[in-house]
Amino acid sequence: MASRKCAAVVVGAGPAGVAVMGNLLERQIGTIAWIDPSFESGRVNRKYREVPSNTKVALFQAYANATQPFKTIIENTHLPNAFSTMAKLDQEKTCRLHYAADMVRGLTDGLMKMEQVYACRGFVTTASLAEKTQTTENKWTVTVKRHDSEEELEIETSRLILCTGAHPTNIPVPVPGLNITRLDLDTVLKPSELAETLPKTSPSTVAIVGASHSAILAILNLVTLARESHPHLRVKWFTRHPLRYAEYKDGWILRDNTGLKGLAADFARSELEDDRLSTSPAGQVLSKVDCAGGEARELEMYQQHLPDCSHIVHAVGFTRDPLPQLMKNDRALAMEFDHESGKFHAPGDGPVIPGLFGAGIAFPERVVDPHGNAEYAVGFFKFMKFLKRVMPSWGPA
Ligand SMILES: Cc1cc2nc3c(=O)[nH]c(=O)nc-3n(C[C@H](O)[C@H](O)[C@H](O)COP(=O)(O)OP(=O)(O)OC[C@H]3O[C@@H](n4cnc5c(N)ncnc54)[C@H](O)[C@@H]3O)c2cc1C
Repeated sequence: MASRKCAAVVVGAGPAGVAVMGNLLERQIGTIAWIDPSFESGRVNRKYREVPSNTKVALFQAYANATQPFKTIIENTHLPNAFSTMAKLDQEKTCRLHYAADMVRGLTDGLMKMEQVYACRGFVTTASLAEKTQTTENKWTVTVKRHDSEEELEIETSRLILCTGAHPTNIPVPVPGLNITRLDLDTVLKPSELAETLPKTSPSTVAIVGASHSAILAILNLVTLARESHPHLRVKWFTRHPLRYAEYKDGWILRDNTGLKGLAADFARSELEDDRLSTSPAGQVLSKVDCAGGEARELEMYQQHLPDCSHIVHAVGFTRDPLPQLMKNDRALAMEFDHESGKFHAPGDGPVIPGLFGAGIAFPERVVDPHGNAEYAVGFFKFMKFLKRVMPSWGPA
């Protein structure tokens, strides 16, 4: 097995992994190993290029200019490029996420060329911790299954940073035994793929569950399809609670991470609110099934309305992607993430696990707004802000 030593190992090259790389390089800690199967900006590029952003262009720009290595990459990339394209957009408006994905890709390409970066296409399968003794320091041994070689690679490091991402949460169909096809939320968020997935000439009814930002974007895609190219398509929207919007306060945003913003908010306000739905264009193809009132009532609603549906899509949050197998002394490492510090500790407020850190949608910061509401901060610039705050406490540069 090939082996080498590095100052840090960063797992994942989505927007979070890229942000971690920029910050670590700025601290000049030595060679950083960076592992990802493709180095193509993560899930936002694979799945969400067609999605309208909920943040302003200015925040993507702020992300791209937040570290010195990023600035160097931007200065040294031939024009026109993803950064110059982004700079020409209206900074106060939102944009399709392909602009942001291409910008992350531009940064990734630049980072991979840097002398202090050892980038390896592959998948981290295990990471094993040997805790320090009187004569040795804490050491992680990270095993990588490489894409370009049969031989595995072993990397020794004192810092392991997990930026491994998340996928839409899948839950069982609420009424068992129905002849209903599951749709992946990612497919519904990609109009070009959705159009090919649903039948054009025969009737279909899609059940959509949820009222999150992603749920409203999914509804927007479904009703647009029904209006434009799939005239036999109908939508049933199962929701427990009223629509919730982000509210812009003096210097802060209420429901910044969970409320509707941008195009999703405009569409929900004008077409999905109860006093609009019956006369709105969306209301001509969509019916709302109010599931409020507790579990029994919700099940009753599903039993009544789900048998009419040919497809179901859940938009009920995101679940961490599987982590590499983490071990200590040849046993599985039990751990919890600390959403304040970006570190991990043993369960139940146990001791900090040395040298292990997390960031991104899998390991976001927990923030509390001036009204005391707690949320997880998910978004490119939010990952960056979190890292800037916590990285100085992750150990010596
Ligand atoms: C519908 C939607 C709209 C959004 N809109 C916005 C927006 O407007 N503005 C904004 O800022 N954010 C937005 N976001 C949030 C943002 O896009 C995501 O949170 C972000 O892309 C997640 O980045 P990540 O790096 O944490 O994870 P990912 O992009 O999932 O990257 C994880 C990477 O790690 C790799 N990986 C996983 N396991 C391993 C392993 N064992 N070994 C090696 N590699 C591994 C994966 O292959 C992947 O490349 C939106 C998200 C959604 C779903």
